Amino acid sequence: MSRIASASRLLASRAAIRAPARTVCARTLSTTPARALSTTRARSAAAPDPMTGELLSLPDINPGNLVINKTSSPKAPPPSNQLAFGHTFTDHMLTIPWDANKGWGTPTIQPYGPFQMEPSSTVLHYAQTLFEGMKAYRDDNGKVTLFRPDMNMKRMNNSAQRLALPTFSGDAVLELIKKLIQLDKHWIPQEPGHSLYIRPTLIGNQKSIGVGPPNEALLFVICSPVGPYYAEGFKPVALYGTTEFSRAYPGGTGAYKLGANYAPGVLAQKFAAKRGYAQNLWLFGEENYLTEVGTMNLFVAFKKPDGVTELVTPPLDGMILPGVTRDSVLALAREHVAGKKVPELPDNLVVSERPVKMAEVQEAGRNGTLVEMFGSGTAAVISPVNKVGFKGEDIIIPTGEDGMGPLSRPIWKQLMGIQRGTIPSLWSVEVTN
Ligand SMILES: *Cc1c(COP(=O)(O)O)cnc(C)c1O
Repeated sequence: MSRIASASRLLASRAAIRAPARTVCARTLSTTPARALSTTRARSAAAPDPMTGELLSLPDINPGNLVINKTSSPKAPPPSNQLAFGHTFTDHMLTIPWDANKGWGTPTIQPYGPFQMEPSSTVLHYAQTLFEGMKAYRDDNGKVTLFRPDMNMKRMNNSAQRLALPTFSGDAVLELIKKLIQLDKHWIPQEPGHSLYIRPTLIGNQKSIGVGPPNEALLFVICSPVGPYYAEGFKPVALYGTTEFSRAYPGGTGAYKLGANYAPGVLAQKFAAKRGYAQNLWLFGEENYLTEVGTMNLFVAFKKPDGVTELVTPPLDGMILPGVTRDSVLALAREHVAGKKVPELPDNLVVSERPVKMAEVQEAGRNGTLVEMFGSGTAAVISPVNKVGFKGEDIIIPTGEDGMGPLSRPIWKQLMGIQRGTIPSLWSVEVTN
């Protein structure tokens, strides 16, 4: 790769963070040590113009080039009451290949099925993989909507950037995802709380075992019909305040949805389960700052001396995954405070993004000012917590008869209404009517 090419790529990669749509030539040339150490590869990301020698940008994803190969053996969707999360997949998937010399290739919707991959593929060795999780809902009239999908596309590009994988136009991929959903929309269960879970994934699959930005990548999207996370009503979970393992740390990758963040959490989850807790409450540092719960963001509410209830979530300091549900809970609560009321949500409310230490939670547990704690994420939406084990003691967290608390209940109702289409919102993006 020429010096000019690499310099122009570096410049363009700066722009990539902001404007993913134009960044194909601008494969992230990150300044991380991993990149600096990587073996040099004889390839150019952008071809020079034959007349001027100027570097031309490689093609971004073009939905206009979509090829659709329909399955010849469509399956019958299983009955809605037999869906286990993430076990069933629809008839089709979307694939979009990327090549360092040619940019993004032909988007294809094809029958869901296995990939062929060489054992040397870098994804299999160095976890060059990132993903998104989003849901499509079908309302009583058959109208299909996505919930804030632009947020997922942005986050996916941020993750790609962090892994030195190619970025792309989020709008283009969203348009293609809509085509995929339209084709398989009869797979979306219509019952309340049911949805189609959509899993966009991007992997690096260079066929050689060197650590570096791969010269080939594959973006694919699969879809899975899912039932409600809590089929028999909310079941509050007990958390293990985890000090033995860390999920994230400053300068790490906790703020990105990378496959590499999840495999190490499984042992920690087993560790918690062995002690009688359902999930990990991920703590950080000697101060035991609360960060996240399992694979969800965390909210905790305190009663203040002046009678105000404070809804708190840890700030996006690089260790917190910027959840779409987290952002939505914050937005609804803040709108409520500003006068756009969420029905039944208490009025005396303040909303904070600030660090919370375990000591504060322990203290609130002791003096009765702990109002509630819950996790937030696309899969479960809201997941109430009724107990935190920490250093051999259990902190009991109040929950109502329905398992929820005074803030999570109305916020959950509002979110469900928006997602099911009974409450009109700009967050609902139509796929088909
Ligand atoms: C996906 C995820 C969340 C929740 O994000 P949503 O966009 O709300 O689904 C929270 N924490 C982690 C670690 C996650 O992977």
